[in-house]
Amino acid sequence: MPRTSAWHSIKQSVHHNNTNCNTGNNIEKENIRQGDGGKPLCKECSDLNKEGK
Ligand SMILES: [Zn+2]
Repeated sequence: MPRTSAWHSIKQSVHHNNTNCNTGNNIEKENIRQGDGGKPLCKECSDLNKEGK
């Protein structure tokens, strides 16, 4: 499982922590912020983490 610190988009209501997450990877550079932003973990990341990817 790729380990990375959380990031989020100022345009989304969730944060990401899995580098295989498509949604997380598609965030435009100018909208990326480090940290979870106090937002819940994205469903896609959660599923990837569960699968151990
Ligand atoms: Zn995600």
